[in-house]
Amino acid sequence: MKRQGRGKVDMDTIVSLCKRRGFIFQSSEIYGGLSSCWDYGPLGVELKRNIKDAWWRSVVQERDDIVGLDAAILMHPQTWVASGHVEGFVDPLVDCKGCQKRWRADDIKEGRCPSCGGELTEARLFNLMFKTFMGPVEDKAGLVYLRPETAQGIFVNFANVLNTTRKKLPFGIAQIGKAFRNEITPGNFTFRTREFEQMEIEFFVRPETAEEWFKYWVEERFNWYLKLGIKRDNLRLRQHTKQELAHYARDCYDIEYLFPMGWSELEGIADRGDFDLRQHSQFSGEELTYFDEETGEHIIPYVIEPSGGVDRATLAFLLDAYDEEPDNEGTRVVLRLHPSLAPIKVAVLPLSRNEALVPLSKELYADLRKSFMVQYDDAQSIGRRYRRQDEIGTPFCATIDFRSLEDNQVTIRERDTMRQIRVPIKELARTLQAKLGGEAFEVLPPGGSYWLGFEG
Ligand code: ATP
Repeated sequence: MKRQGRGKVDMDTIVSLCKRRGFIFQSSEIYGGLSSCWDYGPLGVELKRNIKDAWWRSVVQERDDIVGLDAAILMHPQTWVASGHVEGFVDPLVDCKGCQKRWRADDIKEGRCPSCGGELTEARLFNLMFKTFMGPVEDKAGLVYLRPETAQGIFVNFANVLNTTRKKLPFGIAQIGKAFRNEITPGNFTFRTREFEQMEIEFFVRPETAEEWFKYWVEERFNWYLKLGIKRDNLRLRQHTKQELAHYARDCYDIEYLFPMGWSELEGIADRGDFDLRQHSQFSGEELTYFDEETGEHIIPYVIEPSGGVDRATLAFLLDAYDEEPDNEGTRVVLRLHPSLAPIKVAVLPLSRNEALVPLSKELYADLRKSFMVQYDDAQSIGRRYRRQDEIGTPFCATIDFRSLEDNQVTIRERDTMRQIRVPIKELARTLQAKLGGEAFEVLPPGGSYWLGFEG
């Protein structure tokens, strides 16, 4: 059994499960792969979509103070001058004179190459933005960037959204989309890649309420992961030190997850003050203010930004859900994913391939597919099939046996408890729907204990 640290699974086990069962493949694998790029397979795409849907539901659908947006990846290049990325989105880079390996200067201890101990070059600054050209001529006039974050698409649309929705402060704009960073040291599977997806909110508030809202969002986002089943022990908050704070930030907390390589950022929540609206206002010449009807004043709102990575969250949910337990066949591997995140909600399993069971099983399969992602599996023993579903996190299996043909009932087997119950077929969809709603996992009360002593 491959385990590490506090009952945690190691990365190799997850990488191999992901490949074997079709969650995540290496990009362009038949050509030898492309470094740090990954493709989500049939199960991975469902899991990732469920994570994005859960996020969207909690921050857009269920709230009346946040609206959604889907901005273009390519933006006017001035955007990145105003945001500070052209000037400041840089990592210091060093090369080893011996083995030629390239490192982020921040990762170097004792001034030597971590790989061969060789001498290093002087650090030079390297901008992480990917460049491309618009139009047929590859010259400076056509230079555009692939966005390194989704946030700026929100800021430049501040006035558009305000004018079309007539929202009052405080209100937010949420967006999910791809971002690109030419990372010097990508790695740890999908943890750090050069192409990834972000889910970001820019929440605009009155300046005097910024601290209160900042605290609110740190708590809200922390609890989101808990509600979706991440173990409390594997999650912590870490406040950025003064030196660490980005140039635009007044305060920042990272929600960190205990990945196999150690505590690392899952999501950051930053108080960005009025930096972005001010910069874009100055560079574009457009007034980006909010008119307060009560006082007759134009104000520049402050912004609280919860910024998470979809791929990093997907990886954390996979690692956290992974469990192995001994059983009579050796080991049962179970992905204890929250039912709302599980790629497949229910598997329809005829007890055997006996022809008599086929029509009813297929009918049930077709019927359930109207409401859920369903798999049909009739290959090998029923025990093996249960195990296959456990390994991909399917919360329920519905088994059709010979009794079903007489009493129109099926056996539902639960992934976590392995308990089995008999349910009338006509009530199955409704019963599953109710069970999939699922009871909430442990949630910290508002102002809960993690506010008192910050870990880390
Ligand atoms: P790091 O310090 O790990 O480079 P960051 O502080 O630069 O991250 P942010 O700019 O705050 O990251 O981005 C917000 C979120 O986007 C991160 O919390 C992370 O989940 C995700 N993210 C950032 N860079 C990457 C990447 N290269 N690969 C995958 N996800 C990323």
